[in-house]
Amino acid sequence: MIGERLCLDFANTAGWHNGDNPNEWLINYEKLLAWSRHAEILNTSQEKALLEKARRHSDQAEKALEEAIELREAIFRLFRSIATGKKTDTFDLAILNKYFTKANYFAEIIPRDGEFALTFQRGEDQLNCMLHPIVKSAIDLLLSGKLNRVKLCEGDPCGWLFFDSSRNKSRRWCTMADCGNRAKARRFYHRKK
Ligand SMILES: [Zn+2]
Repeated sequence: MIGERLCLDFANTAGWHNGDNPNEWLINYEKLLAWSRHAEILNTSQEKALLEKARRHSDQAEKALEEAIELREAIFRLFRSIATGKKTDTFDLAILNKYFTKANYFAEIIPRDGEFALTFQRGEDQLNCMLHPIVKSAIDLLLSGKLNRVKLCEGDPCGWLFFDSSRNKSRRWCTMADCGNRAKARRFYHRKK
C-alpha cells in the first residue's frame, strides 16, 4: 500500500502496469476479497460472508471481478493521464461515473463521533460492495484540488501511482527499495561503462 490514497492503491493491483505485459494480481474473486481486507475496506467477517456468497453464486462473483478490473483500469488510465500531464479520456470518466452512480445508490450519511460520515452499509452483502469506497476515493481525489501531487513512478514500466505527500513534492518512486534502487543501480552501471 504505497499509493497513499485507496483508489491509487487499487490501481496498483497490477505490476508493471505501464508496460505491455502487466502482472495481474486480481486473478480471481478471492484475491479481490483478500486485497479489500488488506486495504481495510472489508473486515474479516465481511470477507468471510462475501466468500460464502461467492461460492454459491460463482457467476455473480465472476461479474464482480470483471467490474473491479474495468473500474481499476479506468482509474489507472485517468490518474496516469493526470500524473503525466495528458488529457484524460472521456471514456474513462464515463466508466468512473457509471460506478459512481451505482455506489451512490448504496450511499448513506450516518452520525459518527459527533459528526457525520458517508458510508455504504446498505450494500455490504453485494459481491461488488468493495468498489464503492474505491469509487468514492477516486472522486474525492479528482475534486481535491491536489491533482499536482498525483504521480506515476519513474521506474518504467512500473506504472504504480501514488499521492506525493512530501513537503516539497520530491517523491519519484513507488518505493526506494524497488524502483528507486533499480534506477540507482542503473546509473552506477552506466557510469562504470
Ligand atoms: Zn515503481
